[in-house]
Amino acid sequence: MDPQPTMHSITVNANIDFEYTLTPGDAVADGEEATLTLDSYEDGYEFVHWYETTTESVLSEDASTTFTVERSMVIEAVFQSADDNDDNGGNGDNGDNGENGDNNDEPAPLDSITIHYIDVGQADATFIEGANYNILIDAGRTHWNSQNKTIPYLQDLGIERIDLVIGTHPHMDHIGDLDVVLDLFDVGLVWKSGYVHDTATYDRVHAAISDALDAGDIEYDEPRFGDTLTLGQKELKVLNPVPDFGGIHDASISFILTHGDVRFMFTGDAEQTQENNMINRASDKGWSLDVDVYQAGHHGSSTSSTLPFMEAMTPSTTIYSAGEGNSHGHPHQEFLDNVAAVNSALYGTDVNGNITVTSNGLVYEVSVERGEAIMVHAPIVPGYDHEIARLLIEPDKRFAFA
Ligand SMILES: [Zn+2]
Repeated sequence: MDPQPTMHSITVNANIDFEYTLTPGDAVADGEEATLTLDSYEDGYEFVHWYETTTESVLSEDASTTFTVERSMVIEAVFQSADDNDDNGGNGDNGDNGENGDNNDEPAPLDSITIHYIDVGQADATFIEGANYNILIDAGRTHWNSQNKTIPYLQDLGIERIDLVIGTHPHMDHIGDLDVVLDLFDVGLVWKSGYVHDTATYDRVHAAISDALDAGDIEYDEPRFGDTLTLGQKELKVLNPVPDFGGIHDASISFILTHGDVRFMFTGDAEQTQENNMINRASDKGWSLDVDVYQAGHHGSSTSSTLPFMEAMTPSTTIYSAGEGNSHGHPHQEFLDNVAAVNSALYGTDVNGNITVTSNGLVYEVSVERGEAIMVHAPIVPGYDHEIARLLIEPDKRFAFA
């Protein structure tokens, strides 16, 4: 199944209305030429230029630009509002403040964080590495399984302390190695869903947590919807579970992590029912579900990442964790369709190996162990002088956007 090189374009982020034409449309191979033409845009703006983000180069100040498709590219259409022009042409009445310029409105970068979506086969383990704190979400399969890479991955990073360890729910592919984590690392706080499971894995991990708690080595909590936790420059908002949770997947600890303007969603193995509930709960609470990077629920299963949930989040990047050739058939086609429906770039540990997302709170960058990395600048930040519309040019057929 050798993919034919095909170019797809999607609008990654835009906060002004504009129309463009990309020729020759699809079926442009890597190394061939393409032309982007701006057809129309919102009143009150002036077009500034086409800008390519990886090489940081201006492609053209004309409405039309021709370029070579060399890899995954993010091209920005940059616009200036008419109001900005008025400011620049000011007559000096505001002389005291004039030197400061509008650029000072741009928010300052925060500490860098890196989210490691660790390739642990058909399982989940995600590590959030911050400047002053670390969080581990799940720990992969049980250690007797030779596929487990969580522990060596963390050891390779030189990690000694983990401030928060989260077992989203007690299935073996999530909490498998949590007892080993408690054993080998200096753990601060442990979060577990509270679901009691009748398995040897559960008993082993539960005993390890109880022992560590009795020894005064850790703190322990079972977070519920509405809880928030601030860790350094991060904030966690818990969306699931509620006190009266149902099945084991319904108990999955789910939360949004906010770092400056960049937001990440984690839902464990939560499924359709809880996704719908999370939409309603967030609405009741006045919390936005809009995120930039979404770790797909339940390994890219059709049970999760339903269209209403995807539309509520509109993630520009979706990442799932699944084993190559896994027996569940993850990622399912329904999941892929819903990812494409919201124009999200997609990565999976089965295809891309270890995946990392690094962010300074303003923008984020995706890196992959295998395959092509696509850099997507993160959210449009209110207060910027220029309005920017971002297009992802993707020569890889894997992202099957229509
Ligand atoms: Zn799972």
